[in-house]
Amino acid sequence: MPQFDQSEYINLAAEVAAARARGAKPLACTHTYGCQGNVSDGERINGLLEAMGYGFTDEPAEADLILYNTCAVREHAEDRVFGNVGALKHIKRKYPDTVIALCGCMVQQEHVVKRLYDSYPYVSLVFGTHVIHRLPELLYKTLSGGKRVYELSCEDATVHEEVPVRRDGDIRAWLPIMYGCENFCSYCVVPYVRGRERSRDADSVAAEFESILAAGYKDITLLGQNVNSYMRKESGVSQFPQMLTRLDSYEGEYWLRFMTSHPKDCSAELIEAMANSKHAARHLHLPFQSGDNEILRRMNRKYTREKYLSLIELAREKMPDISITSDVIVGFPGETDEQFRNTLDLIKEVGFTSLFTFIYSKRRGTPAANMEDPISDKEKSDRMGELLKLQESIAAQRCAAMVGSVQRVLAEKELRQGVLSCRTSGNIIVETEADASLVGTFLDAKITEAKNWILKGKVN
Ligand code: SAH
Ligand code: SF4
Repeated sequence: MPQFDQSEYINLAAEVAAARARGAKPLACTHTYGCQGNVSDGERINGLLEAMGYGFTDEPAEADLILYNTCAVREHAEDRVFGNVGALKHIKRKYPDTVIALCGCMVQQEHVVKRLYDSYPYVSLVFGTHVIHRLPELLYKTLSGGKRVYELSCEDATVHEEVPVRRDGDIRAWLPIMYGCENFCSYCVVPYVRGRERSRDADSVAAEFESILAAGYKDITLLGQNVNSYMRKESGVSQFPQMLTRLDSYEGEYWLRFMTSHPKDCSAELIEAMANSKHAARHLHLPFQSGDNEILRRMNRKYTREKYLSLIELAREKMPDISITSDVIVGFPGETDEQFRNTLDLIKEVGFTSLFTFIYSKRRGTPAANMEDPISDKEKSDRMGELLKLQESIAAQRCAAMVGSVQRVLAEKELRQGVLSCRTSGNIIVETEADASLVGTFLDAKITEAKNWILKGKVN
């Protein structure tokens, strides 16, 4: 396993960054778009910047380094980044020494790189998802040379350990256990921009987990595009249930979550491991994408509606209080009204706690981009409206049914004086009246009121 070794570049970059800083110390303004995987990368980027002596600011105009960690899953996310980068031009004009950098999934696409190179000359550092650990070297080259640095090579098979991390919060933590994806769902750009699937070594994951617990985090999410195939390539069978059991064995009160779980690989063994564990949250995020078998086939999802429903049934049989959340795509190319109704029907049948909803977005280079799509945008957004209405009423009913119950919650932050925002094991937000000193602790809250999908509670 290659170890992280950039100490020389960290020192060199720190020296140049300090010399060029506008203030007493160099300041970075970093922003991450997209999924938790990207958030976790962003925390490593910030860890590296901190090691190079950077402080942090939310104000781009104050920063010596502005870095956007981008997402490519939908076109809308890309448009936003181009818009935001365009808006930085005036800062660069006023402070020519500011380094503007872009990284993440979006820059792992050739057409994006070309557009950046041709039309955004003031972006001086661009690096891909495979070389994050080399940020000190790349930043040093950018700061010390006069040329733009573009580093997009794919060191696919390698996982670099011991990259410093600067976590965003102090209660919830993200822990990547694997990178990449090779499921090639026909609509999705992730396998092209994140590369082949590779798992982190189990001891490294456990060591990082221990350090997260030691730092006082209480709600830890294991990350991967398909955590159910953890170590499958390396050892022939998935070792995710074993990993869950291993991480469950530590002392203390904490919750263990994971995402994402692909239904094609979600096994009875995993559900069993969750049911038998002390710390696994009663929450399963299991994206179904569509409730129609023909659409699922054309999405290359490799499971059927029936298989999906049987997994939900099994999970509920073993854990009656489990909360199920999911992802769904509306308007996949050629989706008929009847096929869309099958999706609505599945949503009714399962009764999800919450849904991440997406209107299909055409992604260059994916098989779905070449599929006929006679459905209008208006029709797609009408369908989305109908779906959202249905889900809102389901979520409201589920929340109303919880009134009167007592829920174990983790207090996450003070919303306003004397009111805390808390989260249940099933990932539902509960607002409780309690003192700010209780943030970061587990409480028993009696649910007194449901306002749509937000619960109000009183601490016992
Ligand atoms: N690996 C995860 C999902 C990662 S992407 C899984 O398979 O469950 C997160 C979500 O974005 C997907 O679940 C899907 O619902 C949505 N998504 C991905 N590509 C999309 C596209 N081209 N258009 C619309 N939504 C998309
Ligand atoms: Fe994309 Fe499918 Fe991989 Fe998820 S499993 S990241 S949807 S290709």
